[in-house]
Amino acid sequence: MLITFVAMEAVAWFMHKYVLHGFLWFLHKSHHSHHKHAFELNDLFFAYYGTLAMLFFIFGSDPIDYRFWIGAGITLYGVAYFVIHDVFIHRRLKIFGKSSNVYLKALNMAHKVHHKTQGKYGSESFGMLWVAPQYYITANKILKKQEKRKRGTVYD
Ligand SMILES: [Zn+2]
Ligand SMILES: [Zn+2]
Repeated sequence: MLITFVAMEAVAWFMHKYVLHGFLWFLHKSHHSHHKHAFELNDLFFAYYGTLAMLFFIFGSDPIDYRFWIGAGITLYGVAYFVIHDVFIHRRLKIFGKSSNVYLKALNMAHKVHHKTQGKYGSESFGMLWVAPQYYITANKILKKQEKRKRGTVYD
């Protein structure tokens, strides 16, 4: 299951870079443009992975074999992706406040860099849960500065 989870990040990265920013750009485009709709065409991918996971469950559950765990890995990844990408980064549900967690901060920055480009080409940071080290360094610096500022106002 964990292997599937990790593999899904690689799959998501690959799909995002070569398929979504490739021949399926027309579906993913909605996610890179500003809009006010509650749902976007890009959400179809949840349906796609959901169906895929369901098939693995159906074929792998009688008796339970490795396919069941692949299905579980896909599902888990889908949930993690939704919570982090849709809820935390894009704030589709407003349940998280600003976080001072370095990983989340770095993740947020990396994804904002990805969204800076509205076109099909020239985007970077295609991964979702994996964050390139340079973002950690910058995120750490920003958080430290915020800390100092906070402390500064306390002692002034
Ligand atoms: Zn994209
Ligand atoms: Zn996004």
